[in-house]
Amino acid sequence: SPADLPDYLSSLNDAQRAAVLAGTAPGDSDGPLLVIAGAGTGKTSTLAHRVAHLLMQGVAPDALLLLTFSRRAAEEMTRRVQRIVAAASPRLAPIAAAGIPWSGTFHGVGARLLRDYAGSIGLDPAFTIHDREDSADLLNLVRHEQGLSTKAKRFPLKGTCLSIYSAVVNTCSPLDEVLRTTFPWCAEWETELKALFRGYVEAKQAQQVLDYDDLLLYWSQMVSEPLIAGELSARFRHVLVDEYQDTNRLQASILRAIKPDGRGLTVVGDDAQSIYSFRGATVRNILDFPMQFDPPARRITLEQNYRSIPPLLDAANAVIAEAGEGFDKRLWSARTGGQKPLLVSVRDEADQAAFVVEQILARRESGLKLKSQAVLFRTASHSIRLEVELTRRNIPFVKYGGLKFLEAAHVKDVLSLLRWAQNLRDRVSGFRAIQLLAGIGPKGAARILDNLDAAPPGAALLAEQPVTEGVRAAWMEFASLIEAAGASGAAWPGSGEALMHWYETQMDRLYEDALVRAADVRQLALLAATYPSRERFLSELTLDPPEVTSDAPGKPLLDEDYLILSTIHSAKGREWPAVSVLNVVDGGIPSEMSTGSQAEIDEERRLLYVAMTRAKDQLELLVPQRFHLTGQSAVGDRHVYAGRTRFIPNRLLPRFEQRSWPRADPEGVKPMSVSEARIDIAAKMRAMWG
Ligand code: ATP
Ligand code: MG
Repeated sequence: SPADLPDYLSSLNDAQRAAVLAGTAPGDSDGPLLVIAGAGTGKTSTLAHRVAHLLMQGVAPDALLLLTFSRRAAEEMTRRVQRIVAAASPRLAPIAAAGIPWSGTFHGVGARLLRDYAGSIGLDPAFTIHDREDSADLLNLVRHEQGLSTKAKRFPLKGTCLSIYSAVVNTCSPLDEVLRTTFPWCAEWETELKALFRGYVEAKQAQQVLDYDDLLLYWSQMVSEPLIAGELSARFRHVLVDEYQDTNRLQASILRAIKPDGRGLTVVGDDAQSIYSFRGATVRNILDFPMQFDPPARRITLEQNYRSIPPLLDAANAVIAEAGEGFDKRLWSARTGGQKPLLVSVRDEADQAAFVVEQILARRESGLKLKSQAVLFRTASHSIRLEVELTRRNIPFVKYGGLKFLEAAHVKDVLSLLRWAQNLRDRVSGFRAIQLLAGIGPKGAARILDNLDAAPPGAALLAEQPVTEGVRAAWMEFASLIEAAGASGAAWPGSGEALMHWYETQMDRLYEDALVRAADVRQLALLAATYPSRERFLSELTLDPPEVTSDAPGKPLLDEDYLILSTIHSAKGREWPAVSVLNVVDGGIPSEMSTGSQAEIDEERRLLYVAMTRAKDQLELLVPQRFHLTGQSAVGDRHVYAGRTRFIPNRLLPRFEQRSWPRADPEGVKPMSVSEARIDIAAKMRAMWG
């Protein structure tokens, strides 16, 4: 009975406890386990308890492979496990405190495993990883070499080419099928695309660079070798995956190769929250999971929602029920009371921003920290107006998703320096790094890279052209730093710091706002020092970059209270007491970009469901009457008169409380009279000067 159980098990409900204990008692079969359940039912928390329980049973931390949707999610899970273990068993606390070494995203873990096994699979362990932009650049280079000019021949753009390539890899489908089903307007280029992709693969191999997709592809190829699969299977007694509904076929095939009979394999997820099919994820993975094994996987469902008050859950359930896909979950909440979600009609996006800020401040007045509140949106650009308003009002915030730390030019500079030092064959990185030198342009950089096969960087640079003594000295300093950093992976982070320091001394020449950017570089150096090796630093930064840069105007101090702004995609798995969702209009959600197929529309509905189920106590959906479309299909920017999202048709309105703002009746916001106002002119005058 629950009374006899250790505390950490007695706090769970029966279904959760069954999922934690499945296959862990002596004689119990440790066959494959699927936990499929709706939002807020404790899937992630159950997984954390299962990991803690395994550790307490004596399973070594490095015998666990824990795969999550983001690095942050893995870190949160680890902390949770540590808390559970520390509370339950002081003796084991130190073991748990060391963390779970093999935890992270598929891509992050893949990168580390590939380095470990590089020697056995013909890979240089110093391989570098390209982010999407680098990949597109390399693909573009190959395209030019093959004479496939976009302008002359209307050949697909580099970004489209990369998307096609990525779709082929991640969905494990042949090119012609991907073209037919997803990129029909490119189908006429099948032959050229095939040649292009072959050239791209060859270029990557020659340069020993891997792109995001390669991390999964090489991993899956690696474990198709029985020898390696067997070793990994023995090494990882337990493989546990959160958010399984958003994995793709390649990821499923990796799991199957490591755990062919499913023993020791646990996956959890929610089919109603599958929101990554645009990246090749398929909800079939989770739906078909049980039958992939013989005997089939054990399936546990959880029905009690611990997160949200009933009115919020009712509204979210109603929205997802409209899909007619019969997500067979009847979520209920034992929490009581609470307000219906607000459906707030505002004039335009400026009013939307003003309203949200008012609400946030009012809630902070009543004691709810900024950190307990989040503003979610479909697309990163939707929050821009709000960001301006927050900055104006001095409200600190952090934005997740969309804001690309790596796209900041100075961050790219530093990464290409470090990457090039690690792998001199990486042309995209080298091309950028060399041009940081005064007096070298694209042509020169290309020639130097061509000469590199025959000579080390210093000599290749000097072969370039006669230069003055001063320039020569500067080039040699650069070359020796690159060579030193390349040679001494072990001297990390010192060698990396030296290179970053050199870069800082060049920034004045490179950027007008060097001062602001230099702060980021120093932050990078600090961050670098927390990683055990250059490879780990570079991989993890490339795969899962931090979200804030000096570009973010409201950048808070670390210990400060701040508001969270996030795309819905990046809010996956998280929860806040109060949540506002922007632009809940047709064209917002569903996005103007995805009004094509029914499948796309269904995914947008699931996105709204994910957004709504992030809220614990308060939820408001904003409906601006005038909405700014930015779609490429539009001629320039344009406003449209939008309507409430089609996912909340009239028959669902009783589940919401409708408001309009500014309120029509003057009772709500009474205009202040001049005599009531207290305007501090002196303070204003001082403020003009900072
Ligand atoms: P999502 O689908 O959004 O990822 P989830 O199913 O992973 O949600 P969790 O995030 O694990 O749900 O849990 C939601 C909330 O419910 C958390 O605050 C968690 O601490 C709480 N919770 C889960 N199980 C219990 C329980 N047995 N008793 C009390 N609180 C619980
Ligand atoms: Mg979760």
